[in-house]
Amino acid sequence: MTAVNVDEIRARVDEDWQRIVDLLVRKTALQSISAEGITGERMRRSAEFVAEELRLVGIDAKVAQAHNADGTPGAWEVIGSRVVDPEAPTVLLYAHHDVQPVPDPSVWDTEPFVATEVGERMFGRGVADDGGGIAIHSGALKALGDDLGVNVKVFIEGEEEMGSPSFIPFIEEHRDEFAADVIVVADSGNWSADIPSLTTSLRGNTTLDVHVKVLEHPVHSGQYGGPILDANTLAAMLIASMYDENGDMRVPGVDAEEPVGGLQRDLDEATVREDAGIVPSYRLAGTGSIAARMWTKPSVTVIGFDAHPVEGSFNVIAHETTFRLSLRTAPNQEPERAQRALADYLVAHAPFGCEVSVTPGENGMGWAMDPNAEATRDALEAMEEAFGCAPVNKGEGGSIPFIPELQRIFPDAQVLVTGPEDPKANAHSPNESISLPGLRKNIVTEALLLAKLAR
Ligand SMILES: [Zn+2]
Repeated sequence: MTAVNVDEIRARVDEDWQRIVDLLVRKTALQSISAEGITGERMRRSAEFVAEELRLVGIDAKVAQAHNADGTPGAWEVIGSRVVDPEAPTVLLYAHHDVQPVPDPSVWDTEPFVATEVGERMFGRGVADDGGGIAIHSGALKALGDDLGVNVKVFIEGEEEMGSPSFIPFIEEHRDEFAADVIVVADSGNWSADIPSLTTSLRGNTTLDVHVKVLEHPVHSGQYGGPILDANTLAAMLIASMYDENGDMRVPGVDAEEPVGGLQRDLDEATVREDAGIVPSYRLAGTGSIAARMWTKPSVTVIGFDAHPVEGSFNVIAHETTFRLSLRTAPNQEPERAQRALADYLVAHAPFGCEVSVTPGENGMGWAMDPNAEATRDALEAMEEAFGCAPVNKGEGGSIPFIPELQRIFPDAQVLVTGPEDPKANAHSPNESISLPGLRKNIVTEALLLAKLAR
């Protein structure tokens, strides 16, 4: 057991609080927008800043430039470590130091790159995503100080918002600096500022371009309309054939799963309606919990459709069309398998025997937490102690591509996805913010987790 209890850790975090707030303020001012140049000077300075902050909390940190698969220069990464005992478990702490761009500062209520406290929240680009992750790691390491009982490795990435193009080559090059028993990815968030969560799953993603052809060339709709349906209508029939009458996908071989580790609380329909801006008359498609529908069951979206624009349209039967499908796949299904199953289904369900051909696109694997892993149980306990209430876990309908990649490269590592965000954080949007009481509890949680993992 560890010598430090939750009250002691809380007191230490309180004592350190002004430093943590200052870190966020200074980090925000650096404007580390990777979209404006991953290899640029701003990103390098941001990495140097983070490395220096990590040194202040006992991490031997350095900045290294990654290389893309083709050998060209990549992101400015921060890596570091602190070895306390070669026999003790090793924990890798992940966050990223790049931030999203601010296309229109005028829609912000505060200056995006001047971190500003308003009530219990701090506003600024990157204060939550993922400055908050850096603050959590820094605060937890400082709180434990010489009571740290695990070896720590740190990786603060410089291009997460750009899809991590040099991430894999960088890990392969620095394998030893990454190898760990437990990986804590602090780039997600909690159910609310007061209710902690582990992120239990991510869906995978795949795309397919579907080509529908009925005629060798367009013909007059007055002359041939009737026996010959236009390619757009046939495509619409094909799209509709993927659903049953309840709006559930019914494509054999495209798996559906239930929320990983059980569902403590379903998503609230009214909140989902309000957040997404759903028109009042619309009934939610599909059956079962909303959480499963949004996190662990597949969903398919038509994201592109080549049809003639309304403006300038005339009386012809379109002879062919192409549409693009984006398929979100269940966390544990290989996206290639789902992609193949969907492609086979579409070809087999060609309405009236029109020609349907499918061009497969890119695949990204999903991810599911191991709910029974020791580190998972430690994290849930730490959350309950730090927040004073039971965690409500949540999934993620989208993907964080590097997490399944990390899991693939280090299959034995227990991956925990935590983070500073909450539903009000507005990551990637105007008026991004972080809950300061929430951040404090997140720091206490991570310090407690590291203490528990030391056992
Ligand atoms: Zn992020």
